Amino acid sequence: MTEDTLFAKIVRKEIPADILYQDELVTAFRDISPKAPTHVLIVPNKIIPTVDDVSAEDEAALGRLFTVAAQIARDEGIAEDGYRLLVNCRDHGGQEVYHLHMHLIGGRPLGIMAPERRG
Ligand code: 5GP
Repeated sequence: MTEDTLFAKIVRKEIPADILYQDELVTAFRDISPKAPTHVLIVPNKIIPTVDDVSAEDEAALGRLFTVAAQIARDEGIAEDGYRLLVNCRDHGGQEVYHLHMHLIGGRPLGIMAPERRG
């Protein structure tokens, strides 16, 4: 059995969070420590620990992460300027919570990634 997670407790509303959206596949809530004016986490309701654990049966929930992220970005008024979607995987990816989640970050310029590799 998959171990319970902090985010599973948020999905089940056992611990408080600022939930923006929930359906049968995913839940979206504000990050407790926002890195930008908008910082929302979108998680599958089902516990998938990391990207390395996804399987074909998860494709509906994983696709839903994108459609919900895009809708929340429009609702937050950041869609036109743009934003960043980020999924960290394990140690080198900087993953802290082992319940797969997509970060939606925006509301200010975030800069380019890995600028040393450009040019
Ligand atoms: P990761 O580094 O795993 O990709 O991101 C984990 C995120 O979860 C971090 O941005 C962190 O601020 C957020 N986080 C950690 N604990 C909580 C919590 O209890 N509630 C909420 N809403 N976010 C949390």
